[in-house]
Amino acid sequence: MSLNIPSLEAPHKTTTTNYAELLSRYVQIPSISGNEKEAGRFWSDTCQKAGLKVQIFTDEQDSYNFAASLYPLESRKPNIVFINHIDVVPPGNSDAYKHPPFSGAIDNNEIWGRGAIDNKGMAVMQLGAVEKFIKLARTTELPYNITLLSVSGEETGGHKGAKVVSEQFLEILNPSVVFGEGGLGLPKVLSRNPDMKVFGIAVSAKRRLWLELKLGMNTSGHGSVTPHNYVVKEKIFAMNNLLEWERKLFFSKTTDIMFSSLGKLEGGIKGFILKNLRYFKPFLNKTLKRNEIIHSVLTNTITIIGVNTPAGPPNQIPQEISVILDCRLLPDIETNTFIEELKEVMDCKEIQFNIILEDKNAKASMPELFYSKMEKAIKDVFPGSEVIPIISPASDDNHFFRYHGIPVYGLLPVFMDISYMETVHNVNERLPLFALQQGIDIYAATIKNILN
Ligand SMILES: [Zn+2]
Repeated sequence: MSLNIPSLEAPHKTTTTNYAELLSRYVQIPSISGNEKEAGRFWSDTCQKAGLKVQIFTDEQDSYNFAASLYPLESRKPNIVFINHIDVVPPGNSDAYKHPPFSGAIDNNEIWGRGAIDNKGMAVMQLGAVEKFIKLARTTELPYNITLLSVSGEETGGHKGAKVVSEQFLEILNPSVVFGEGGLGLPKVLSRNPDMKVFGIAVSAKRRLWLELKLGMNTSGHGSVTPHNYVVKEKIFAMNNLLEWERKLFFSKTTDIMFSSLGKLEGGIKGFILKNLRYFKPFLNKTLKRNEIIHSVLTNTITIIGVNTPAGPPNQIPQEISVILDCRLLPDIETNTFIEELKEVMDCKEIQFNIILEDKNAKASMPELFYSKMEKAIKDVFPGSEVIPIISPASDDNHFFRYHGIPVYGLLPVFMDISYMETVHNVNERLPLFALQQGIDIYAATIKNILN
């Protein structure tokens, strides 16, 4: 099918300015997880005014979820879904910001504030792209619907957002594919050619397993007479075992695809090693440990987030201690197997394991049809760039849809320096204006490639 699709040529200056102002206004409405409704209302009104058909799925203070589409969802067309989240993480130390966290300041061609990248900026890019097709959809019966799906609570596990939508509204949403968060385009990925723009599209993600490890012991309570064993001492021994644990490297079909694509681009000896990484396994662990990102996609990572004892004076021995672990498991690892392994390594039978949060184990989305449409879009916008499928070390809402067998591809469709990404969940979060336009262009080219 060939359609007369609007040209997606050079960025239009006024348009970029308008989208920057729109993002600025969206950032100015604080929407820390649990309080999404006001920002969500602003965003659904914006989509409606733009000419999209809005359907609100849930309308609660902490669970505002809606779809904004070219055609009403009742049309039952197969749907190309662009997911974004309304909520943001708390700003942290506001004094450390150059511009207040919810200022939405536009300074030096950057839009400042919490959510500017994660994830309100991405939502504006999606709207900017989908908007281009409204007129076409009115005059032509397109084979697909195109939907912006805005959800709550991504930062706290997605249970009030993507989970609700994927469990209760999947049929009406009818997604053929979901495009969400994940990788982005970066320089300096290839040592052979550091100027090469390499975009990583996430086809899978590690999953969260948040654990509380509790240890209780009845010992004497006075710090002046040290008991043989007491909770803090036992826990430190056990945690030490955990920290010294040499973790195994895991390879799967997805890691094979990722490293063989990277190896092909890299070429030479390094490329050969990357392509055949699993055969070099015995030699890899030490070398890879130095590369935190590669290491994180081949191992289950464990981060100790906090150690807590009940409040008391400095001379009182606590009877209870708990440790919080943020574990990120590779897609093929079972929770129970992993916990049993932890127990063995820590070697302290009295520790109780409680699961605080666990993401579902979802199969990777193989890089197929819709992946190739996005890949082509990236190359249309950035000729000479390369695209590889990756496993995202962070988890997001994507797994809720992968779990239902829907392909999900994760990409913040911009090419920018990693230093911008480091402001995400940090102070001085900001998005450069050029990135807004890039995002709109790549999303629009993706839609165009799908419709053609
Ligand atoms: Zn996010």
